[in-house]
Amino acid sequence: MCPRGSFYDLFLSKLSRKVSIPSFFKTNAFRTGILAMLIIALGTQVYFAWGSAYNIGRAFLTVLTITTTAGIILGAVFKPRAWCQICPMGTLGNWISKGKKPLHVSEQCKDCKLCAKVCPMQLKPYEDKAGTMTDGDCIKCSSCVAACPIKALGFKEEMKKAA
Ligand code: SF4
Ligand code: SF4
Repeated sequence: MCPRGSFYDLFLSKLSRKVSIPSFFKTNAFRTGILAMLIIALGTQVYFAWGSAYNIGRAFLTVLTITTTAGIILGAVFKPRAWCQICPMGTLGNWISKGKKPLHVSEQCKDCKLCAKVCPMQLKPYEDKAGTMTDGDCIKCSSCVAACPIKALGFKEEMKKAA
């Protein structure tokens, strides 16, 4: 439901080189560092703007403009949703949602890897064959479910039984 993520999906897919992001982007240390940096940057600006609704609004607008621009550049150089891998909201979402409504992967999986190819978050459901994928970065878009040629993926409990 994130408007920025949807914007990247819709408008960057034609521009993007669609290259996988470097693996260190996905490490906890890097993501926590970005989250801390943005909290400090925004907190400092709000601190100095305190008392003026206009200046506080400007602080938020500045951070949103900078991060959206960074996201456009990352999306063009790597995959459209590259920013989503390090976005502070994405990082918090990852921590909160890990394991919730997991994606079930049937043992029928043929390892064709189509699911990974279409995943906007660069996840690999097939690696959890005959089990569940609990990665907190999954945005439950169901692109992989629709792409699987043998219907080996699903969020429903029945899929768990089939796994
Ligand atoms: S698309 Fe389906 S069959 Fe292919 S690797 Fe993914 S889960 Fe397995
Ligand atoms: S539901 Fe979407 S984000 Fe989650 S693994 Fe499938 S394609 Fe990736």
